[in-house]
Amino acid sequence: MRLPHEPPGDGPNVGSLERKEEGSDLQISNCIVCNKVFQHESQEARRCPECEAENERALRRVKDIILENPGLTVQDLSNMTGLPYRQIMEWIQEGRIIR
Ligand SMILES: [Zn+2]
Repeated sequence: MRLPHEPPGDGPNVGSLERKEEGSDLQISNCIVCNKVFQHESQEARRCPECEAENERALRRVKDIILENPGLTVQDLSNMTGLPYRQIMEWIQEGRIIR
């Protein structure tokens, strides 16, 4: 019994595609706020570290306002904080603000 096309040794091309050892999983993205290019490790970073920090601050402010004033609408919050309506909606969709 002979298989004429069988390559010797490890068989066809398995193992040559994956190379896992190079560095960590740093990725590069554009910040959605200031458009700066930045590196990050997580899968879903959309803001650079500075804008992320600013975003966190704003989020905390919104949460405080919600605690003190239950029943506000997103529009109210937007008016009170000066933050874009869209931004607040995004936090709600991400589950970072619970209505
Ligand atoms: Zn930024």
